Amino acid sequence: MERTRQPTVGIIEIICGPMFSGKTEELIKRLTRSKIAKKNTVVFKPIIDKRFDEIQVVSHSDQKIVSIPVKDTDAIKSYLQNTEKPIEVIGIDEAQFFDNSIVQFVEQLANSGLRVVLSGLDQDFEGKPFGPMPLLLAAADVVTKQYAICIICGAPASKSHRVNLDIDNNQILVGGMEIYEARCRACLQF
Ligand code: ADP
Ligand code: MG
Ligand code: ZN
Repeated sequence: MERTRQPTVGIIEIICGPMFSGKTEELIKRLTRSKIAKKNTVVFKPIIDKRFDEIQVVSHSDQKIVSIPVKDTDAIKSYLQNTEKPIEVIGIDEAQFFDNSIVQFVEQLANSGLRVVLSGLDQDFEGKPFGPMPLLLAAADVVTKQYAICIICGAPASKSHRVNLDIDNNQILVGGMEIYEARCRACLQF
């Protein structure tokens, strides 16, 4: 008899782009549909991001999904180890805030059959690669790059401009429209 290999195939999907490009909306959409498909689904977000809600992931357009706030990659690991029913699909919002250990971890999850959907900023406010995102993008099976609308000219925007550099110069400064503007490459010069 012919031997057939039937590996359990998982996948790593990344949604990237600047602020306001609809990354969180897209993550919520995919994970909501996964729940409709009765997949055991869980969403994580870094504890640092408490902009809209302590527990839920919330988009700038006020769409919401329940999430587990976590300190780091290990916290996701222990959550998954302690669930009664095995998790089939996981979402991670604001993936840029995790450290590089997230890369190997999501690879392991996908290799063991899970669908992992991550969303995050590919660039920081200076246009530099943000946290583990370059490595995650390299490891991903499917990458979706989204664009916001440039608030100066209305073109597709790929940059997150920090409005007031006097506030703070650190790479990590969680905020919304009071701190960041979506800008296209040309309008970043102004
Ligand atoms: P992200 O997670 O990428 O920051 P969200 O999914 O939270 O984005 O929010 C996307 C929503 O933000 C859009 O659907 C729109 O309602 C709103 N929005 C506000 N400013 C902009 C902008 N400059 N360009 C596009 N969408 C914007
Ligand atoms: Mg977001
Ligand atoms: Zn522009």
